[in-house]
Amino acid sequence: MTDTPQYGFDTLQVHAGARPDPATGARQTPIYQTTAYVFRDADHAAALFNLQEVGYIYSRLTNPTVSVLQERIATLEGGAGAVCCSSGHAAQIMALFPLMAPGRNIVVSTRLYGGTITQFSQTIKRFGWSAKFVDFDDLDAVTRAIDENTRAVFCETIANPGGYVTDLDAIAAIADEAGLPLIVDNTSATPYLCRPIDHGATLVVHSTTKYLTGNGTVTGGAVVDSGKFDWSALGKFPSLSEPEPAYHGLKFHETFGPLAFTFHSIAVGLRDLGMTLNPQAAHYTLMGIETLSLRMARHVQNAQTVAGWLENHPNVDKVTYAGLPSSPYYERAQRICPKGAGGLFTVALKGGYEACVKFVDSLELFSHVANLGDTRSLVIHSASTTHRQLTPEQQEAAGAAPNVVRISIGIEDAADLIRDLDQALAKAHA
Ligand SMILES: *Cc1c(COP(=O)(O)O)cnc(C)c1O
Repeated sequence: MTDTPQYGFDTLQVHAGARPDPATGARQTPIYQTTAYVFRDADHAAALFNLQEVGYIYSRLTNPTVSVLQERIATLEGGAGAVCCSSGHAAQIMALFPLMAPGRNIVVSTRLYGGTITQFSQTIKRFGWSAKFVDFDDLDAVTRAIDENTRAVFCETIANPGGYVTDLDAIAAIADEAGLPLIVDNTSATPYLCRPIDHGATLVVHSTTKYLTGNGTVTGGAVVDSGKFDWSALGKFPSLSEPEPAYHGLKFHETFGPLAFTFHSIAVGLRDLGMTLNPQAAHYTLMGIETLSLRMARHVQNAQTVAGWLENHPNVDKVTYAGLPSSPYYERAQRICPKGAGGLFTVALKGGYEACVKFVDSLELFSHVANLGDTRSLVIHSASTTHRQLTPEQQEAAGAAPNVVRISIGIEDAADLIRDLDQALAKAHA
């Protein structure tokens, strides 16, 4: 970490982690397109492999371009360190990997990104891990779900669909009481709108594919560690507190202190799981982050304008956006994300499934895609795409009822977005 805590967010998003290239003076961070790094001599190589000296060995573990991105994201989130991964889903596995073992479970919110629900309800079972899904507005239920095999609590800052905002402070207090780390997926909010570590999160995960990169070019992920959790206190996290056989009995927590999780994620996680971000992708994400605050402010402003306009449209049943006073999460959003409730919301159309299909087919400026957090405005009708294999009841529970369209508002002119929505709504109800 560079010693730059005195700088503001807009300065840090441009500068944190980067310095002119020592070899050439290049002002922009070069793409270090290399697999390996020459050792000074055999002793240097041995010290690197023993983790006695920090340096570059092989790009599955570390790469200078990726390192700049890691430091930048860690700084923006107020964390001690970060590890980047090949996708948001990779980041989620990387976040859980040092904490879990067969028979262990995580307590997770029912309101999560659809792909995360599948990863947690199906795929992690292959590792002997499991997830207990709980309504995170029912704080007693969250407390009750935690048992002696629970190793983490997991939620999203702003969950879509549904315009849901998690009461991070209340959930962090429960995790704290149980001696467990709270992991928060901050993809939809980004550190510009919310820094979960300030609300008690231990780890923050990102799909950098979305707003952090912001232009729909690459997939990537990150795990940020607050550096504040005591991994040794209760003996629940032996990967971090006990001797690591592959490093001559080194204890990560004892040796690396607040950077234990980050060092473990690189030295063991990336080494053996190989979910590495490549330097070219890191470059695109660094480019994106330079303008994060400018884009997020516009995403929020546009979402506010467009959601407010849609709410008053005669062909619209309901808009779920935590930035609107009609949302049950409006007050909470003011506390958790005071700069705005993000750029995502859902709209329920009169006319149900048929109207929604006609609506998405009639849009010209909005693209119908399975993505979000792009500079371009995007839309998806979940019931006919990502959620089409579910029953109508399951679609309803997932916030993807047949009459619901999810919108990811871009940074275009709000008036142009409204004009496009207006003509598509007219065609949908013709
Ligand atoms: C997209 C997304 C993910 C998964 O990230 P990928 O980069 O697609 O693997 C996880 N959580 C949220 C909130 C997302 O939007």
